[in-house]
Amino acid sequence: MALFRLTHPPAPPGVGESCLHNQLSRHDCEACVAVCPVQAITATATTPTLNALDCLRCGRCLFVCPTDALQNIRPETRHYTASTLVAPFSTLEPCVDELLMWHQQHGIRAVEMEMEAFPGWVRAVAALNIRLRELNAPVWQILPPQQKAINAGRRHFIKASETDVQSATVNIGRRARRQALSAISEYQLLLDRAQCTVCGACTRVCGEKALSLSEGALTFSSSSCTGCNSCAVVCPVDAIRIEERVGENMTLRFPWHQKTCRCCQRAFYTFNAETDRCAICQRHQYGMREA
Ligand code: SF4
Ligand code: SF4
Ligand code: SF4
Repeated sequence: MALFRLTHPPAPPGVGESCLHNQLSRHDCEACVAVCPVQAITATATTPTLNALDCLRCGRCLFVCPTDALQNIRPETRHYTASTLVAPFSTLEPCVDELLMWHQQHGIRAVEMEMEAFPGWVRAVAALNIRLRELNAPVWQILPPQQKAINAGRRHFIKASETDVQSATVNIGRRARRQALSAISEYQLLLDRAQCTVCGACTRVCGEKALSLSEGALTFSSSSCTGCNSCAVVCPVDAIRIEERVGENMTLRFPWHQKTCRCCQRAFYTFNAETDRCAICQRHQYGMREA
């Protein structure tokens, strides 16, 4: 019988292969860098670097990453009864994106706590309620602790957990949030149809299949878009922008036309049925590229 069980230290947190910087060297995503409260992640010329010694394992970066690239960090386990989060609470307040997942995934509508004891949590709930109002969703309340929660002694807490306190985490990342909030969209497409040459680069790079190029149309499905911005990064003519704005779910369809350029006689694609010169010939002086 083995006297010792060898245990490995937990793997350090880091940024994995699916980081957008590993997919497109020109990508400028800094979503995780922006939300880290202790600057444990720093932007570099290539993939962001995560300093494991500084990291608090708070999990904020998990909720903003469009490609679930953060590794070896777990979302905080929290406790709840019915539709209310209860003590014990984390010292560092949760981010709005995490609370939004509690709202959708576990039907939480309140936090039971002493407001003076957790000012960070009060701010987090206030920020969440602003977001919930934008979404036309019911807002959260802060409830005074009930008797059993006031007595946060371990014995009493164990007694409560035996009865009705449950513990759980929520799903992480923008993809999970899109699935949880599938009735609305958070990102809107702005397409400059005069500039777009229907090259399809944006549709090929879109990992969420929010953009697609089919026979006859470029299509955008707002419910799938995670706002990763890869489409804008690869567009050769700056024709596409993604704006962060809550709205109704919709599928936009932009029909395109195949034409033959009257100057160079080459086939080209355009959203304007009246155009008779391709984008390249339009950039040249009249007649320079005539066949
Ligand atoms: S878990 Fe928290 S502290 Fe660690 S890198 Fe992510 S945001 Fe920063
Ligand atoms: S449409 Fe653009 S921003 Fe939205 S998921 Fe696709 S590539 Fe990312
Ligand atoms: S928006 Fe840009 S990348 Fe997408 S099809 Fe048009 S030109 Fe190509």
